[in-house]
Amino acid sequence: MINQVLKEFALENNWYCARTCVLGLYKGYYFQLNDEERCKILSCDFDEVTEETRENIEANLLEKNKNVSAETTIVTNNYIAISFAEVLLKTNIETLKKGLNSVVEVLASNSVPQGIGCSHCGSKDNLRYYYNTTNNLVRRLCPDCAAKEETKKNQEEQDKLFEEKKYTREIIGSVLFSIIGIAVWVLMSVYLKNITQIGVIVLGALILIGDSKFKRTKQSTPLWILAIIFLLSVIITNYIIAGNEIYTNYPNVTLRVLLNNFLYNSSLFSWIMKRVLVSVFICAIPIVILFFQKSTKINGPEWVMAEKITNNYEERIS
Ligand SMILES: [Zn+2]
Repeated sequence: MINQVLKEFALENNWYCARTCVLGLYKGYYFQLNDEERCKILSCDFDEVTEETRENIEANLLEKNKNVSAETTIVTNNYIAISFAEVLLKTNIETLKKGLNSVVEVLASNSVPQGIGCSHCGSKDNLRYYYNTTNNLVRRLCPDCAAKEETKKNQEEQDKLFEEKKYTREIIGSVLFSIIGIAVWVLMSVYLKNITQIGVIVLGALILIGDSKFKRTKQSTPLWILAIIFLLSVIITNYIIAGNEIYTNYPNVTLRVLLNNFLYNSSLFSWIMKRVLVSVFICAIPIVILFFQKSTKINGPEWVMAEKITNNYEERIS
């Protein structure tokens, strides 16, 4: 949200707005006004000057700022920043104008050329302003450099999309490791009868290990793919365990009878499904934790073109 005083000033001067700051040319020089906690910061970028000129600019500004209630002034070879502290009173538009005018006068008296070049090539024609969405950094680009940046961005997005679709390796890894998980779980059911259901945790862990061991891209496999592999493995394992138990109790049972029972015996089906539900329930908490870990991806910073400020700016972006 842009501070009201900055907005008013930007409207008067036909400036651009970038999230929490306003920027543009004032009497030929490029300025940016930032609204920070307990202060406003006025900054000006200009073409690089010699150390002697920088010292003169700094001395001239400190002299002028005595009348401008500015708190801190920083002067480098191509940048000036002045902060106005706001302890009790907010900085008003007149104070900001006085600050801007003093910078303009000092730069002009030291023969600093007006305007500022493209951040990449230095060209001063038809500049566009771009701001970073995670901080208030602004860069200026000429149409040529803006087009190059756009092509680069599109290429990166395409590469990312392509990468996102390449999960085959991860899926193969998860399936291979799930087979090991199924085997371990079945063995547990044979030898550790009372804690058979704990095998589901071994299976889930092995699927995740398989996914990460075979991972070759930075993108993480969508959780739904891993969930399907997990659920299918749980169902398969419970059928194998049930088959094994039937075989132990009725050693003469034929494979055909066993399959017929799996297909048409509804009480056997509901018994197996209950066990599947218990298995999934045991894994519910780790699955929820994993889901939140995967879904809290941090989006990287993005450069957005700054727009000319208008009266209804706030309403349009909300
Ligand atoms: Zn350029």
